Amino acid sequence: MPLTPEQLADIDASRQNPQPTLRAVAPGMEQHLYTAQPVLDHGFVRVIDYMGDDAAIVQAARVSYGAGTKKARDDSGLIRYLMRHWHSTPFEMCEIKLHVKLPVFVARQWIRHRTANVNEYSARYSILDREFYIPAPEHLAAQSTVNNQGRGEVLQGAEAARVLEVLKADSARAYDHYEEMLSQEGQAGLARELARMNLPANVYTQWYWKVDLHNLFHFLRLRADAHAQFEIRVYAEAIAEMVKDWVPAAYGAFEDYRMGGVNLSGKAVEVLKRRLAGETVTQEASGMSKGEWREFEGVFG
Ligand SMILES: Cc1cc2nc3c(=O)[nH]c(=O)nc-3n(C[C@H](O)[C@H](O)[C@H](O)COP(=O)(O)OP(=O)(O)OC[C@H]3O[C@@H](n4cnc5c(N)ncnc54)[C@H](O)[C@@H]3O)c2cc1C
Repeated sequence: MPLTPEQLADIDASRQNPQPTLRAVAPGMEQHLYTAQPVLDHGFVRVIDYMGDDAAIVQAARVSYGAGTKKARDDSGLIRYLMRHWHSTPFEMCEIKLHVKLPVFVARQWIRHRTANVNEYSARYSILDREFYIPAPEHLAAQSTVNNQGRGEVLQGAEAARVLEVLKADSARAYDHYEEMLSQEGQAGLARELARMNLPANVYTQWYWKVDLHNLFHFLRLRADAHAQFEIRVYAEAIAEMVKDWVPAAYGAFEDYRMGGVNLSGKAVEVLKRRLAGETVTQEASGMSKGEWREFEGVFG
């Protein structure tokens, strides 16, 4: 259960209180405001606030007053131009603030994205909930044999059951000890800031995360990618769906140039030219390493 009835009531209350504003409003994002999108078994992402829309990107790029006389077609053409030419600062004019609940091992990957503002739930001040990420059976996979940073076949039968049991039992035992250390009848009880240290990395934490659109796209490019670990990718995918509704033209350009496009090295461009001229080029004759060649063939066959 990712959200308690109290949290759902808070969200309802926030949505019952619309305020008139002169600020730009993105209708696609209004539907997401305050609502929580469940992710994993106890996590969620919810939009707390946002600033700007597609028009704000265009306005900043033209350093203009408002909607002006340009048509929406011109605006999306300009946004595509900006994205194509890495003219990134206009995208920084849009911002989003999210409330995220996520396992600590996912937070460790996420926090590496330094170009955001973060405020995390304090486990020095508050007691953490008894909530641990336990992967669904279809995500309990073996170490990949081809990718050192990935997983392979899904575990089956007795092995899957044994691993699940270990994960559940360790989480439960660690939390029992956490509670025991915090308070025992007639004893002082260990400080929360110390008692938390035996909790495993699958315990959930929460934070507010604020980021501008340019750096959010960078995050999504890396974390909504197939190479990202599943447990962070599902958060990135949930955020991507919100961004698509918030700034549809910018998201469309991002999807096309960043998610759908590829970067080519000078050697790769040469191979493509030679292939188009009818030459059969081998990896040995390409000047590329085996790894580069594998990735090149993965895209162009
Ligand atoms: C698939 C994958 C595997 C990974 N594996 C590992 C791993 O094994 N070990 C590991 O430690 N990390 C790993 N990472 C994390 C990765 O190295 C980055 O730390 C993370 O993706 C954040 O990227 P970033 O620094 O570009 O983002 P941000 O911190 O948001 O920075 C965005 C951009 O701002 C600039 N910038 C920000 N801060 C500075 C600075 N102080 N100096 C100069 N430029 C700056 C850079 O241009 C940077 O690209 C992995 C990431 C991915 C996606």
